[in-house]
Amino acid sequence: MDHPAAERPAVKRAYKLRAYPTRPQEGRAVRLLADHCDLYNAALQERREAWRLRKVKISYGDQSAQLKEIRAADPDGQGRHSFTAQQQTLRRLNVVLAAYFRRVRDAKGKQRRVGYPRFKPRQRFDQVLFVAWDGAKWEPADGGHWAHATFQAVGRVKVSQHRPVMGRVKTLQLKREGRRWYVIVVTDTETVALPPTGRSVGVDLGVARFLTTSDGGAVPNPRFLDAAQQRIAALQRRKERARSGSGNRRRLRRSLAKEWRRVRNQRRDFHHKIARTLVDTCDTIALEQLRVAAISATSSGTVEHPGRNVAAKAGLNRSILDAGWTQFTSTLAAKAESAGRRVLLVHPASTSIDCHACGARCTRPRQDTVVCPVHGELDADLNGARNIATRAGLGSGQASGA
Ligand SMILES: [Zn+2]
Repeated sequence: MDHPAAERPAVKRAYKLRAYPTRPQEGRAVRLLADHCDLYNAALQERREAWRLRKVKISYGDQSAQLKEIRAADPDGQGRHSFTAQQQTLRRLNVVLAAYFRRVRDAKGKQRRVGYPRFKPRQRFDQVLFVAWDGAKWEPADGGHWAHATFQAVGRVKVSQHRPVMGRVKTLQLKREGRRWYVIVVTDTETVALPPTGRSVGVDLGVARFLTTSDGGAVPNPRFLDAAQQRIAALQRRKERARSGSGNRRRLRRSLAKEWRRVRNQRRDFHHKIARTLVDTCDTIALEQLRVAAISATSSGTVEHPGRNVAAKAGLNRSILDAGWTQFTSTLAAKAESAGRRVLLVHPASTSIDCHACGARCTRPRQDTVVCPVHGELDADLNGARNIATRAGLGSGQASGA
């Protein structure tokens, strides 16, 4: 990159990556969580007693200062772990208690009892946060397939890095979700302003096409969605026919979950690619503010956690797309932020149904077409994109100087 880099404030970013510990590493990771859980509960107990018996508030600083002794007294247990990671666990407790005392204050004078924070059972304590380069280390995937995260008292764990981790690594979190393990890498990225392009567009996210820009650009829906939709619908039908409680039904449920995971991964990669292109080629990008409530009220929420007649093809198709728009918008916003580009969100009311040229209310005989009483047939998504551009103050958004 040979353009002048204008430095801006750092942007924080989190990458959640699947980790594949070996059996022995997994055993040690479980022990790590258990030890941190014990530390958390012991610290909670101390604070709880102090509060109950003497109305004394013990601070994070007090407890952090005791860590040294605790570690020295327990060299084969607490003493083996990263000191700074243990401090993070105490901090986590501190956040929980700060929230508790806030609730107590708010409840004063009202008939409301506020429960003191509870001890955490070991199986529910599922993450430990490490400060990078202090008891934990990150090695990005270097051409090859695997990245590695090393944690004190656990070892060097294989990590599947499906996209590049940008920026300076600040913290590494080891997390358990059911039988899976994840590493969450949090980075700081210096924002580097990209050179201006002179292009500003309104963007319509649609069903017929994934995306249409107000200057006539279009991105079709990726083909993997069709294939996924067919596989999911077929599995869904088989599952509904399988006897409830049977092994077959359980297997089908797992296969369904796996298909959804696959769609999510492919969709995410697709979003990153499209967002990258937009950010590289536009100074300002306007989109509709998504109606999240409206979206979650559609069939979308029910397909992944199916209830009734969710196999309906249109509903399924729509849900696969819907689920992606929020993610795409936030991916785009994040990329734009670190590139010094502007993303504008406009109010969505009737952007698709009013004519972009004269504002007249159109009819919509088909999903992909609107008909203006003055201007005749218009591409519905392009019309929408141009309305979005206008509403964002980008002019009509049509290609200029062409
Ligand atoms: Zn018109």
